[in-house]
Amino acid sequence: MPPMLLKKKCNRCRKNYVKCSKRQGYVLCFDCQKPQLDVEIEDPKMKKLFDIPELMYRNNAFLCELKSKYIRFGSLSDKQIEVFKRIVKELSEEFGEEKKTINVQDIELHDRAY
Ligand SMILES: [Zn+2]
Repeated sequence: MPPMLLKKKCNRCRKNYVKCSKRQGYVLCFDCQKPQLDVEIEDPKMKKLFDIPELMYRNNAFLCELKSKYIRFGSLSDKQIEVFKRIVKELSEEFGEEKKTINVQDIELHDRAY
């Protein structure tokens, strides 16, 4: 089964397209999300987790979503942290070869905020 990835127009600026899964109703492009993500993280452990190149956030909506979840709720579940680390690892490996989009078909976030 190929991943069900769609391109939707950003719900805020209605200008940029965002790659997302079929289930994702409300999407924000990176530029619209950036100010929201640009928050000082106090927990040193989480700060380190989120301290990744901007390019990774730009290339992967899940990373943005997880960071924004953390900012909103002040925590992430172990599973979410695991997913975050896994995406970062995959992106690092792929950026090592050539820049391409990653396969997100097997990544699901269960407690969506919207
Ligand atoms: Zn936008």
